[in-house]
Amino acid sequence: MSKIKLVSRDFKEKDTIINIGDVIVGSNTRIIIAGPCAIESKEQVLAAAQIVRLGGADIFRGGAFKPRTSPYDFQGLKEKGLEYLAEVRSITGMEVITEVLEPSAVPIVEQYVNVLQVGSRNMHNSPLLKAVGRSNKPVVLKRGIAATLEEWLLAAEYILYEGNQQVILCERGIRTFESSTRFTLDLSIVPNLKKLSHLPVIVDPSHATGWHELVSPMAMAALASGANGLMLEVHPNPTEALCDGVQSLHPAEYFDLMYKVKELQKFLCSIDNKKGYKILHRRINN
Ligand code: PEP
Ligand code: MN
Repeated sequence: MSKIKLVSRDFKEKDTIINIGDVIVGSNTRIIIAGPCAIESKEQVLAAAQIVRLGGADIFRGGAFKPRTSPYDFQGLKEKGLEYLAEVRSITGMEVITEVLEPSAVPIVEQYVNVLQVGSRNMHNSPLLKAVGRSNKPVVLKRGIAATLEEWLLAAEYILYEGNQQVILCERGIRTFESSTRFTLDLSIVPNLKKLSHLPVIVDPSHATGWHELVSPMAMAALASGANGLMLEVHPNPTEALCDGVQSLHPAEYFDLMYKVKELQKFLCSIDNKKGYKILHRRINN
C-alpha cells in the first residue's frame, strides 16, 4: 500500500470528520442518506422528500444525471432535476446529494447540492476525480464494481491530492460469480478500510443487493460492521419507478428500517467506546 499517502492512517492517524450543514460524518457518527434512484418529476421528488424526512434520514439523494447501462433507459432530468433538488433543500431543510458525471458539470452541480457523488462507473475517471478534488463540497466516492481496496483508495487519493480532504467512501457491492443478487456486498472492506484509512465509510445495500427485501438486513449488518452510515434508495411508488424500482424501499419498508436503525444506533453508541475486557475483568473480580 506504499502508493497510498494522503488517505492513509500513516499520514493522518485520527478519523476524518466531515460537516455537511448540521450533519457530522465520520468517527463514531452514523448518517443516513436516502431518496429515489432518479429524480423523475417535481411531484415524485417532493413526495419522496417528505417520506425521507419523516423517516428521519439526514441527507436526501436523487440522481439528476443518470449513468445508465443502456442508452435507451431514462437518463435523468438533468438541470431540471438539479432545480427540483434545490427546491427539496429549501422546503425540507435537508442537505442534498447528487451524482456528477463529467468534469465540466462540476461547477454547475455544486451550485445546487451540498454533496457531490462520484458513481461506481466513474471511480476510475481521473479527470472527474481531479475536478471534484478542486471543489470545496464533500464527495461521496463509490467503489467501482471491479475495484480492489487499493484501487479505490488510490481514486480517493486523487481527490485529496487536488486539495479536497472531504471524501466519504461508499461500498456498493462488487461483481462476483453470484447472480442471485445484483452485486455482492463486500462488508469486510468496511473494517479493512477503517484500518488503513482515516476517511469515513458508508454502505449502499440497495445497489449491492438489487432487491428491496434484502436492503434492511444488509443495512443493519453494515452498521454493525462499523460503517459511518448508509445510502438507501426509497421511492414513493417503487412499481412505477423509472429506475431501480426493484431495489427501492417502499415507504413502509423505509419507516420500518429507520426505526430499527435508530435503535441499533443507540445500542452501537452505548458500546462504541466500551472496553469489554475491562468490564469482564471487573465482573470477574467482584
Ligand atoms: C446511484 O447511487 O445512483 C448509482 C448509480 O449507484 P452506483 O454508482 O453505485 O451504481
Ligand atoms: Mn439506483
